[in-house]
Amino acid sequence: MTTPSDFPTIILHADRTKAVLNHHPWVFSGAIKAVRGDPAPGGLVRVADDSGRFLAWGYWNAQSQIRVRLLSWDEGEALDDDFWRRRLARAIAARGEDNLIAAGGTPQAYRLVNAENDYLPGLVVDRYGDWLVLQALTLGIEARKSLLVGLLDELLHPAGIYERSDVDVREKEGLSPASGRLTGQEPPDLIEIDEFGRRFLVDVRLGHKTGFYLDQRYNRQLLGSLLRFDPQAQTRDVLNTFGYTGGFSVYALDGLARRVITVDSSAEAIDLARRNVALNGLHAADEDFVVGDVFQYLRLCRDSRRQFDIIVLDPPKFAQSARQVESAARGYKDINLLAFKLIKPGGMLLTFSCSGGVTADLFRKIVFGALVDAGREAQVIQTLGAGPDHPVALTFPEGEYLKGLLLRVV
Ligand code: SAH
Repeated sequence: MTTPSDFPTIILHADRTKAVLNHHPWVFSGAIKAVRGDPAPGGLVRVADDSGRFLAWGYWNAQSQIRVRLLSWDEGEALDDDFWRRRLARAIAARGEDNLIAAGGTPQAYRLVNAENDYLPGLVVDRYGDWLVLQALTLGIEARKSLLVGLLDELLHPAGIYERSDVDVREKEGLSPASGRLTGQEPPDLIEIDEFGRRFLVDVRLGHKTGFYLDQRYNRQLLGSLLRFDPQAQTRDVLNTFGYTGGFSVYALDGLARRVITVDSSAEAIDLARRNVALNGLHAADEDFVVGDVFQYLRLCRDSRRQFDIIVLDPPKFAQSARQVESAARGYKDINLLAFKLIKPGGMLLTFSCSGGVTADLFRKIVFGALVDAGREAQVIQTLGAGPDHPVALTFPEGEYLKGLLLRVV
């Protein structure tokens, strides 16, 4: 039997133990005073304070600035295969059929494992119908990929598990992109899912992220209900920018909006948006599906004095890292300012940021700055975030990447 002393030990500087004691899951290179032993890439390590006292277990990556991702704060816990089975089972149970999250109305499409926030650092698993799509974001997960695939197979019996680890963050871990079938059947070209009674075609092979922006489902539903309960819905014009495969557009059309314009720079996404609208028995004119740049499109609308009742601004991550926050802020301000100018009095703006480096507080300040420059007034009706299948561990504020505001423009 292995004992704790058989594992390499990572000793932290005396003033850098607080985050670990508070169960934050990351140990940065600068926190490390010494490495005792020879940790394997992705291998288990014991993290200790400078008197050698145990703090936590984690997995190691010498190539990453985040040298250790922490897994357990219980010295007696064995980090064997059964540990990973228990962690997966717990995340899955939290989305189980008798649980509030699945009862939320999307039993076919949701996030099963939300990485650090489900105490499985570096692992994302999304479910689309009978298929699972997995992202291994760290070396520690990459090293255990076949174990995790086997356990997911055993616990959930999916038709197949597909990998979409073709993401930039892998570079920071010294990993190259990877995608393809991991086990079971190849997924079909498009998987049809049900989200609150709306149908969507998801391309898990080539679509963004794992195929669909699952995190936005409650915000899409919110847009649907705003219109459903609006006696004037049939007079409303909606502009869905960064519309991807038409998620918000389907809800807006289903809510009986008069006109819904979907803008995205990806021709493939717009093509699928068209198909998703049709799949739901809804109709939008051909010219209302626009392949183009949102920054330009908003300016065009401003110059031609177009007005909308509702605008959705759901841009991609403008800040990929802390260094890009300032330029990201300019991008967010630009689109929000333009949007404020295009909204009719009494209209609504749903505005989002999914940049981890832009906090909810900063995002609100940026939107405020845009409002002042636009010379408008607006009220916060609701603050928005990801759905409950994307929990945020309270010990891990970085997990709260998606933030949004529902604003009423006066
Ligand atoms: N709201 C969508 C998700 C949007 S993700 C949903 O609910 O499914 C962001 C989208 O912005 C992506 O589809 C990407 O193709 C698009 N995009 C990125 N930069 C763009 C730009 N400058 N102009 C238009 N679309 C852009």
